[in-house]
Amino acid sequence: MQGMMMHRPLSIISILEFAAEANARAGLVTVETHGEVTRQSYRETYARVGQLAHALSAMGIKPGDRVATLAWNNRRHFELYYAISGIGAVCHTINPRLSAEQMIYIVNHAADRVIFVDATFLPILAALKEHLPDDLRIVVMADHDHMPDTPLEVFCYEGLMDGQKTVYDWPEMDENTAASLCYTSGTTGNPKGALYSHRSTVLHAFMVGTILGPALPRDEMGKTNILPVVPLFHVNAWGLPYAAPIIGANLIMPGPGLDGESLWSLMDTEKVGSAWGVPTVWMGLLGEIEKQGRKPVALADVVIGGSAAPRSMIEKFEKMDVNVNHAWGMTEMSPIGTHGVMPPEVNQLPFEERMDYKQLQGRRCFGVDLKIVDEDGNRQPHDGKAIGELYVRGNSVVSGYFNNEEASEKALDAEGWFGTGDVASINEDGFLTIQDRAKDLIKSGGEWISSIDLENAAMSHAGVANCAAIGVAHPKWDERPILVAVAAGEDKPSLDVLRDHMAAHFAKWQLPDDVIWVEELPLTATGKVSKLNLRKQLADYKHPELA
Ligand code: AMP
Repeated sequence: MQGMMMHRPLSIISILEFAAEANARAGLVTVETHGEVTRQSYRETYARVGQLAHALSAMGIKPGDRVATLAWNNRRHFELYYAISGIGAVCHTINPRLSAEQMIYIVNHAADRVIFVDATFLPILAALKEHLPDDLRIVVMADHDHMPDTPLEVFCYEGLMDGQKTVYDWPEMDENTAASLCYTSGTTGNPKGALYSHRSTVLHAFMVGTILGPALPRDEMGKTNILPVVPLFHVNAWGLPYAAPIIGANLIMPGPGLDGESLWSLMDTEKVGSAWGVPTVWMGLLGEIEKQGRKPVALADVVIGGSAAPRSMIEKFEKMDVNVNHAWGMTEMSPIGTHGVMPPEVNQLPFEERMDYKQLQGRRCFGVDLKIVDEDGNRQPHDGKAIGELYVRGNSVVSGYFNNEEASEKALDAEGWFGTGDVASINEDGFLTIQDRAKDLIKSGGEWISSIDLENAAMSHAGVANCAAIGVAHPKWDERPILVAVAAGEDKPSLDVLRDHMAAHFAKWQLPDDVIWVEELPLTATGKVSKLNLRKQLADYKHPELA
């Protein structure tokens, strides 16, 4: 027997339509690319999104067309998210930190018809122009007064909006219609496109809003002010542009200022309660907090994901009464998979024990199923001990890749689960521990060593600001671990001091054989340490026993 309930297609524009009425006064604070700070409620934003939809239609954008963005976190980027998907087209966000080669590949692969670009990134486009589709139109995301000089033929965003009606008759679409496209920052081979739908996006927004929303701090006026440092140009800023209007939170959009100093002062002035980003960003902010002698006035919560949050970082935040929510996910998961909101019993524990939990990659969100399997695909128990490759399933997980049959065929296992490429364990209480990317695990004498564990332990030494553990070739042991580290100050701890410091957490054979000090670690386009580039940089390095 079927239930007798209506079926309304889930649609992205309905989120903003709702917020314009029910959360009308909440909205966006933007640091514009030219520096000015602007404020725009969700009601005003919805009206502008209507104008933008008319402008897109006037440009001939049709359902299914890809419209690209190359932009900072700002209100116009947010407007594009809604207007493009609202008319049935696909918002293709491009990460400006990709290599020229990757950018050329994805713009051509996506067959973008228009690209909306912030003035900052116009030179990138100018340099690539001859390799991009001939009919690609370029719109600069600025008003008339802030249009940059450029040899390119460009349109002005506010020029296109001028005179357009604010009311748009949004088409009703199948909820499985494609809404946005984000390419993985593939370290090997070409990037692959995750093609999100209206349905997956709205369900993901519900998930983020219901699970993380209640845990978010409010300021003295009762407002929730969230600063997404995670970019709108990659993995939809972890879903915040969709979740925030639903829960009536304000989004504080930092624009180009992502260094510790700019973030600190924006957070302080705008009374940011919660900020979301990858660990490298928080290293900059923590440095600034130390310089200022205090945290930003209202900061009470950080969501950290994208790579493992070092325990030392978690402890620093928690000691200043900033709750750390350690989450895990990936591009192919829209991207949130787990969250670090703690069960009440954990919050009662003494500090060190609480940190033991915070260090884990949280528990799955409702709507995301997890399984770990051994090399033959057999399910492993969730007992906190068994380690296996992590597979996921859910309504916001990809079923394949955009226009890429080869990669799509390999994406799912026989049971229809997506292979994450991560190696993990899950305990009885559902807490996930990411041991490593499968390709980053260090194999020594037939046994595995988790590079994340080594990094965590090394970074808990006060002399280590940042570090990466990698395996280097060894004739007897296959691979041996070494550390590549950035010093926190003048005094660099010796290898022996580091090994002693780490010894409590490891068997002796697991400890690193060498430490190489560097000024900085190479980063990927999404701000993670790039082990691929690190290995390239160390191509001539020899293990101490061989050197
Ligand atoms: P991306 O698709 O660029 O977001 O990368 C996804 C990958 O980042 C995951 O498969 C993990 O390997 C890694 N990752 C994300 N969050 C975490 C985390 N909290 N701890 C460890 N690794 C993480």
